[in-house]
Amino acid sequence: MRWRILLHQGLIRKDLSTNIKPFAVEDRGLSANLYSLIQSRFPANHEQVLIETGTGRTYSYADLERESARYARFFADLGLVKGDRVVAQLDKSPEVLFLYLGCLRAGLIYLPLNTAYRKAELEYFLSDAEPRAIVCAPQLLPALQALAEAQGIAHVFTLDQAGGGSLQTQSADTSTTFEPVVCTADDVAAILYTSGTTGRPKGAMISHSNLSSNALALQEAWGWRSDDVLLHALPLYHVHGLFVACHCVLFGGSRMLMLDKFDSRKVLELLPRVTVMMGVPTFYTRLLAEPDFGSAQSAHMRLFISGSAPLLEQTFSEFQARTGHAILERYGMTETGMSTSNPLRGDRLPSTVGLPLPGVSVRVVDDSGADVAAGDVGQLLVKGPNVFQGYWRMPEKTAEEFTDDGFFKTGDLASIGPQGYVSIVGRGKDLIITGGLNVYPKEVERFIDDLDGVFESAVIGLPHADFGESVNAVVVRDNSSPPVTENAIISVLKDKLAGFKVPKQIFFVDELPRNAMGKVQKNVLRERYQKA
Ligand code: AMP
Repeated sequence: MRWRILLHQGLIRKDLSTNIKPFAVEDRGLSANLYSLIQSRFPANHEQVLIETGTGRTYSYADLERESARYARFFADLGLVKGDRVVAQLDKSPEVLFLYLGCLRAGLIYLPLNTAYRKAELEYFLSDAEPRAIVCAPQLLPALQALAEAQGIAHVFTLDQAGGGSLQTQSADTSTTFEPVVCTADDVAAILYTSGTTGRPKGAMISHSNLSSNALALQEAWGWRSDDVLLHALPLYHVHGLFVACHCVLFGGSRMLMLDKFDSRKVLELLPRVTVMMGVPTFYTRLLAEPDFGSAQSAHMRLFISGSAPLLEQTFSEFQARTGHAILERYGMTETGMSTSNPLRGDRLPSTVGLPLPGVSVRVVDDSGADVAAGDVGQLLVKGPNVFQGYWRMPEKTAEEFTDDGFFKTGDLASIGPQGYVSIVGRGKDLIITGGLNVYPKEVERFIDDLDGVFESAVIGLPHADFGESVNAVVVRDNSSPPVTENAIISVLKDKLAGFKVPKQIFFVDELPRNAMGKVQKNVLRERYQKA
């Protein structure tokens, strides 16, 4: 039996080599609740602004403390207890961050979902996660209410982008003090679903100490300062926008300008007021597409950070030529948080994701699990306090994804250069990253294959000027049915899947290319249609 299963059964203790000591509090026998650690790093003056929104609303650390306590108390009064799941399918707003922090505080497991998810996807998430409560954007209420009733989930609330909704009205008279619930380092703080190669999304269980150790590693690696101001234009349902961006600000006792979404004109206007920007590569290509963007808006900036998808060398060089800044590229994933980063001081090498973060170990191995020679390509493995606790209710799947000595198999293909810098050279799992969002082909293929008139399909990513990659489907028709058309497939999928997963183009073929083992050769398809 592998170590992680033993760990889940409490039969062994996790022994992770790290020089990061996230839990000074735990050492003194106190709680490892992440909220307590965040609270201990608040600025001395709690009236200091924490968030300013794109429309000029401001929120202080005192607001965070009060609002998160109110949510924590409200859920506790409803009878929710440590370990219960709270699903949040919400449009971005400061209140979403306070809700997340309220859940941490109450020991509840926060489960954020992209608002683009449709009924069939939600049905699965709810039945798998069995949440006690759902908080959703008002426009999503009819669908979620029906699903909640069908699945016996008693509590459904709304929260809108202006901070209104039934969660607010019903908790208006709730007390705004709440002592954080005592947690151990391995208690689960959040579950984030990642799509599987099998098409069935898996809930990655992320613990209080996964999050705090990673936040502390990033404070150190990126030299976070209390006078830093972050431009936050990322979504709050993903590890990048929720954990990396917000935790950097909160652990630094610093400030953020929060935009609903990335808008290059708005970003140009705000850049003079911030010191750090975090983004997916698309943010940087869009900034470069603005003819008036240059050192005038960026000379004062401390740091531009990129991640979640590969940053093209061309983007790195153009950005440096235009602004004088070398974008700092880092690498991570839902299951591991951040694992590597180019350095704050020292060379930031394009087309690399830098060096392992403090406390994190990486290896590159071949199919047999043996380390490859320096510079050779293999699968990247990661170990450290950042690595998640396993997939929710999938112990076998969890065990498969770890080596016997506790390294997580990322599924990414990588090499390690002479100076120890890691380069991600491909994605072993055929993941498509479009505009920074992940699409696993299998999930889309399942829906296409179910359609009348379709025999089988293969979904592939093709280069796309704006999104980095686009989703495309290659379809073999079922000749016994009336011929299915591109429009018919796309319009059915739009009802079933989030928009970013719906193929931009459908190519029809008589048969899919396969290798001797019967596996579809997606590389052949990519090459063929890339040139088309
Ligand atoms: P997610 O779980 O949504 O954060 O997606 C994780 C995946 O994004 C990784 O497994 C990588 O394939 C990819 N990824 C993240 N950061 C980078 C990067 N800097 N360069 C290349 N791929 C990246």
